[in-house]
Amino acid sequence: MKIAVYPGSFDPITLGHLNIIKRAAGIFDRVYVCVMVNADKKPMFTRDERVELIRRCVKRFENVEVDTSDGLLVDYAKSRGACAIIKGLRAVSDFDWEFQMALANKKLEPGIETMFMASSEKYTYLSSTVVKELGKYGADLSEFVPVEIMDDIKDKLKSSSV
Ligand code: ADP
Repeated sequence: MKIAVYPGSFDPITLGHLNIIKRAAGIFDRVYVCVMVNADKKPMFTRDERVELIRRCVKRFENVEVDTSDGLLVDYAKSRGACAIIKGLRAVSDFDWEFQMALANKKLEPGIETMFMASSEKYTYLSSTVVKELGKYGADLSEFVPVEIMDDIKDKLKSSSV
């Protein structure tokens, strides 16, 4: 059984993330989408909220599970029996950091490959930060985030601005 982990902050999940999840689910037998906790980032959604939002969006993929970890990514991947870590690449700007991390993770755990997936051209401009920024100004988010979570984003933005 070929298992992959797709890690990220997913604050919140976007259509760009979902596109990577769908493609990875078509290649691997099982994909764990893992919400990683980064103490340096101040997220808009709590870890549990992010997990719940992703779960709602990936319901239709039978081989996708949503999880969370605040440990080392390779340790998590190993605990799940994964042979690969999936990363989405939007632009050259993503590459430098992701390449360093891939080499560091390979050093820590030579049995786990990092695999890069090129973003769909439709979503190369899309990040969770863009969604939050546009949402603040009341933009229509239907081209950016899954419809299942649109109201949650609106509600969160409303409650954080009062
Ligand atoms: P961000 O906050 O920049 O959206 P995340 O940490 O949530 O970043 O991203 C998780 C993973 O998804 C990373 O591998 C990132 O490169 C990838 N990713 C994010 N947005 C997209 C997109 N629009 N298309 C493809 N991959 C993406």
